Amino acid sequence: MKKIELQKSFVYGPIHSRRLGVSLGVNLLPTDHKVCSFNCVYCQYGFTKEQVIDPSAATSFPDKKMIVDELNSTLLHSVECGQKFDYITFAGNGEPTLYPFFAQLVDEAIALRNTHMPSAGLALLSNSSCSQLHEQPVLEAVRKFDMKIFKLDAGDSDLFAKINQPHPGIQFDRVIALLRSLDRLIIQTLFIDGAVSNCTDKAVESLIICYKIIRPQSVQIYSLDREPADMRLKKVLPARLEQIKNKILKEIPSLPVEVYT
Ligand code: SF4
Repeated sequence: MKKIELQKSFVYGPIHSRRLGVSLGVNLLPTDHKVCSFNCVYCQYGFTKEQVIDPSAATSFPDKKMIVDELNSTLLHSVECGQKFDYITFAGNGEPTLYPFFAQLVDEAIALRNTHMPSAGLALLSNSSCSQLHEQPVLEAVRKFDMKIFKLDAGDSDLFAKINQPHPGIQFDRVIALLRSLDRLIIQTLFIDGAVSNCTDKAVESLIICYKIIRPQSVQIYSLDREPADMRLKKVLPARLEQIKNKILKEIPSLPVEVYT
């Protein structure tokens, strides 16, 4: 598995992915370190050194104008070159909703998208930590995304603590309640084995209970693709992912489940 470097700019890619097609990435976080409310054992960027749930506790965030200018010039240049994106995707070096001007930036990104490339969707990859989602403007901004992909790797608080190692201010039950309150949600679950495992029958059954509560639009399951922070982790083989998919479908036949290998 390859190691991946932090994104070195505010706009990056495009990345070609099965989930998002041709996706232009937007990074609202510093370019020299990760800022996140989680410290996932499988994180492709290594362990989290700056773990916050309150943006005011973070050392720094990029200037909003710099991000908007970079997005504007990239979209303009892409249109001139005939390059189209399926999605403009908020992801980057940590949890995007921690950005202190998240709501304003989403509105500016939507305006730029409408001006330069109205066919592109707006996608958000979030860890579901909901640390800022109790703020009404942030929640309203999240609802504006065309595709909302939220993380859920564990179906109980013990495994949640072991896999995602959330900031102590984040409670599992609140995460589930928040996910339940959002419409048209895509849940992504990364399965791991080894030092920590969420691919046992028991762990999958707990996840299925959560899927039933959240009622997402679909579920995406996959395993390690990049070098994890904890090198003792193992990739879950495609055959096991297919078994997990079938187990989910047996319990929730109407739920679209996609396996990415
Ligand atoms: S939520 Fe994402 S960026 Fe944050 S630690 Fe987990 S995998 Fe890394």
